[in-house]
Amino acid sequence: HDFHLGVDIDADFDAPPPDAPPAPVVAVVGRPNVGKSTLVNRILGRREAVVEDVPGVTRDRVAYDATWSGRRFTVVDTGGWLPDARGLAASIAEQARLAVDLADVVMFVVDATVGATDVDEAVVEILRRSGKPVVLVANKVDGVSAEADAALLWNLGIGEPHPVSALHGRGSGDLLDAVLAALPAEAPPETFAEAGGPRRIALVGRPNVGKSSLLNQLAGETRAVVDAVAGTTRDPIDEEITLGGQVWRFIDTAGIRRRHRENQGADFYATLRTQSALERAEVAVVLVDASESLAEQDLRIISMVVDSGRALVIAYNKWDLLDEERRHYLEREIERQLHHVRWAPRVNVSARTGRHMEKFVPALETALAGWDQRVPTSKLNQFFADLVNSHPHPIRGGKQPRVLFATQAGVRPPRFVLFTTGFLEEGYRRFIERRLREEFGFAGAPLDVTMKIRE
Ligand code: GDP
Ligand code: GDP
Repeated sequence: HDFHLGVDIDADFDAPPPDAPPAPVVAVVGRPNVGKSTLVNRILGRREAVVEDVPGVTRDRVAYDATWSGRRFTVVDTGGWLPDARGLAASIAEQARLAVDLADVVMFVVDATVGATDVDEAVVEILRRSGKPVVLVANKVDGVSAEADAALLWNLGIGEPHPVSALHGRGSGDLLDAVLAALPAEAPPETFAEAGGPRRIALVGRPNVGKSSLLNQLAGETRAVVDAVAGTTRDPIDEEITLGGQVWRFIDTAGIRRRHRENQGADFYATLRTQSALERAEVAVVLVDASESLAEQDLRIISMVVDSGRALVIAYNKWDLLDEERRHYLEREIERQLHHVRWAPRVNVSARTGRHMEKFVPALETALAGWDQRVPTSKLNQFFADLVNSHPHPIRGGKQPRVLFATQAGVRPPRFVLFTTGFLEEGYRRFIERRLREEFGFAGAPLDVTMKIRE
C-alpha cells in the first residue's frame, strides 16, 4: 500500500465559509419548564433540541449552530447540563454562572404567566454582577392578553422584557434582533480569506532529499515564475505549476533551486527558509529520502510543519533506490517514528523516474480538505455526549472533569474549544483527538484543541 487516503470528508451540511471567524456564543438560562428548549427550537427553526416535560432531565445535545439576519452564532441550552442533585436553586445558580463564563450574551428566560420567582431573582443577581449583556425573555406570551404579565418583569431590573411565545413564534423575530444587537461586533475574517488564487504549497526537507529534482519533475513545461513580493526582483520567488489541470503555487522555489553554496550555518539558513515558506503556505510537502534512515532533521522539519498549523503531506522520495530489505525497515520506521503524524497522507515517489507523480494532487487535496473541514456544532456535541458517556474522564482527587460542550472555533487548521468543568489531562486530550479523527477524518490537518475551564 503506497498511499493512505483519509476518511471521506463529510460535506453534508450547510457549512459557513472555511475562513469565517468563530461564532459568538448565546447561552439560554432559566428555571426548568419556562420554555428554554422550545425557544431554542424556535431559534433553530427546526425540532432539533429535545423538549422534555420532566424538569431536570439531562439532554444529550446542548449547543447548536444558528443564523439570524445572516449572522451566525452558537446557541447553548443550559437546561441540558446539570442533574438536580443539589436542589433547584443551587443548580440554576450554577447553570447561570457557567453560562456567564462562556457566553457572549445570555438569554434569560422567565415564564411570564408565572411571573418572577425567588429563584429567578437569584439568577438576576448573578447575571447583573457578571456585567455580561443579558436579554430578558418573557416567555409564554401567547396572546395580547398576556402582554401585561410580560411588562411586570421590568421589576427584575435588568432591562426590557421581550414578550414571546416560543411555542407559537410570536415575537421571536424581535427577540432575535435584540440578541444580535447585544452580540460583540463581528471579527474581521481570518488571514487566508483574501487568498482565492492558487493554493500555496511549501516543498520542504533537508538538503539532498531531492526537492529541486522533484520540482523539475513536477514542473515540466508548465512552469511560471512569479515574484511573491511586488516590486522586488530578489527572494523569495514562487512558481506556479499546473498539476492535474489545476494551478498550484509553490512557495520560494528560488530558495530550493539555488544550490546550497553557504556552507557555514547552512542548517540555520535552511531552517529560516523553511519557516518563512511555511508562513506563506497552506500545505507543506515534507520530502524525505526513503533510501536512508529518517534523520533527526527530518523529524524536526515535520514538527515545524505541525507547529505552524499547516496541512501536511509526507513524500518518500528516491523510491527507485529501495530494495526489499530497506522497504521492510522503512515500514517499521514509519510505525515507530512517525506515529504522531500518521494522519498525514503519504506518497512514495521518485523524482528521478517520475514514479507516482500523479499521486501528489490527490494527497494535496485530501490534506487541504481536512485542513478546511468544519464540523457543525450539533454533530460535535452529539459526538462529545457519546464520548463522555462511553469513556468518561478518569476521576482525579475525587473530581471528574466533564466536557459540557464544544465548538469548532476555526479552520485552517481545525480549532476546537472544549468548555469543561475541570482540567482534562494530556492522555484524555490525546484520546479526544484520536476519536475526533476517527469520526470526522481531518486527514492531513494538525488539530488544535484548547479548553475553557470552569473550576
Ligand atoms: P425548559 O425546561 O425550560 O427547556 O422548557 P421546555 O421548552 O421543555 O417547555 C416546558 C413546557 O412549556 C412544554 O410543555 C412546552 O410546550 C411549554 N411551552 C414552552 N414555550 C411555551 C409558550 O410560549 N407558550 C406556551 N403556552 N407553552 C410553552
Ligand atoms: P535538494 O537538495 O533537496 O534540492 O535535492 P536535489 O534535488 O538537489 O537532489 C539531491 C541528489 O539526489 C541529486 O544527486 C539528485 O539527482 C538525487 N535524487 C533526487 N531525487 C532522486 C530520486 O528520486 N532517485 C534517485 N536515485 N536520486 C534522486
